[in-house]
Amino acid sequence: MEKDRVMKEITPKDQDYSQWYLDVVLKAELADYGPVKGCMVIRPYGYAIWENMQADMDRRIKETGHVNAYFPLLIPKSFLEKEKQHVEGFSPECAWVTIGGGEELPEPLAIRPTSEAMICSMYAKWVNSWRDLPILINQWANVLRWEKVTRPFLRTTEFLWQEGHTLHETEAEAEEETLKMLHVYRSFSEETLAMPVLFGRKTESEKFAGALRTYSIEALMGDGKALQAGTSHNLGQHFAKAYGIEFLGRSQERLMPWSTSWGTSTRMLGGLIMSHGDDSGLILPPKVAPHQVVIVPIPPRKGDVNEAVLPKCREVQAALRGTGIRVHVDARDTQLPGFKYANWEMRGVPVRMEIGPKDLEKDQCVLVRRDTREKAFVPLAGVAAAVRERLDAMQRELLERARKYVADNTRRASSYDQFKQIMSERRGLIVAGWCGEADCEAKIKEETRATIRVIPIVGEPVSGACVRCGKPSPTEVYFAQAY
Ligand SMILES: [Zn+2]
Repeated sequence: MEKDRVMKEITPKDQDYSQWYLDVVLKAELADYGPVKGCMVIRPYGYAIWENMQADMDRRIKETGHVNAYFPLLIPKSFLEKEKQHVEGFSPECAWVTIGGGEELPEPLAIRPTSEAMICSMYAKWVNSWRDLPILINQWANVLRWEKVTRPFLRTTEFLWQEGHTLHETEAEAEEETLKMLHVYRSFSEETLAMPVLFGRKTESEKFAGALRTYSIEALMGDGKALQAGTSHNLGQHFAKAYGIEFLGRSQERLMPWSTSWGTSTRMLGGLIMSHGDDSGLILPPKVAPHQVVIVPIPPRKGDVNEAVLPKCREVQAALRGTGIRVHVDARDTQLPGFKYANWEMRGVPVRMEIGPKDLEKDQCVLVRRDTREKAFVPLAGVAAAVRERLDAMQRELLERARKYVADNTRRASSYDQFKQIMSERRGLIVAGWCGEADCEAKIKEETRATIRVIPIVGEPVSGACVRCGKPSPTEVYFAQAY
């Protein structure tokens, strides 16, 4: 059967998780490999998902008072070098333009790996007084980081993202902004992508190059590895100092502003795939699915589908569209319904609607949910409400299911032997004490490949002993192997 042929193209998850992921990306036509290693092509179906994610994130960024702008792709070397830690952190990943118009350039230009250097240089021109603050700007752009090991969406040399860059009068305001955006990311991830996240502060060794403090959201993937899905940095006054940003304060004194930056990228799309997909392929949360419903017309035994069934499908499509549901009619006459079912299932469409001649006689259709495969005969009158109900339930239940997975795969390790055993056998998240020393953190990474994903920032700290060295631990932290 054609259905089997489509299914067999996806490697089962428990056979080879990373091959399953690549199969889904390629077969569902989300992305393809470009000619330069690590530079992927985002295909129309993948891009449509990204556009839905982007629109939702953009709304949240604007609702919290930010505006969008666009800054140049090329950054002069001397600009990048102004913040020492920042350039040390990013120079191994930088790609440089050294020739332009056939001539060697007087100064190499970096293709932006991130835009602090560019944007802070401009802020130095724009900010003069406390009245100019805060500056709350976001940019949607591509960035380039030379990566050795790449995987579509999860780690690519070029990727799409948003990067917010803000300036504030006081340290407290900058910290408030940093945490505000962390919570915007968390809400987006959970409400829109149905992807539950841990959130908290990064350790010194995991923080952003040049930051005072970095916070992140972390999602747990189906193979027990964590994915850092968004970061928010309190940059302190490091960048203001490096780029010479000063303002005249309320008492006429020269002051330096406090800055933040925060970003999420196409990496989140990789997280989305791994959070919900199954052995049949993608499962898309309704809020970001390009088609929330696909209508498959079933041809009659005799006669033409176009005459008998298709007009009704179009009618239902218009009715659903009228209520704001994204709906596609798969009117291809080159494929049989069975192929279409498997194909849209693989591409993660939340609800499939089947309409055939027998259904028309009874004024009904068949609705099938992608995640539960629950099938129901539904009267065509009022079908929009029945579809909406399923979309809402699916959005909610995907999050619940993912939350349960995180809970089931979060363990407490009381000894280092137990820690090592969990990491080598089942992975997942481990809650354990840590002494706070970078050296101990590095040893744990070396010995178990697990890193500290976040230090919790809510709730009372649970003190105890470091899981590895036994020294006092001021608070428990979350460990996992990570993408
Ligand atoms: Zn320790």
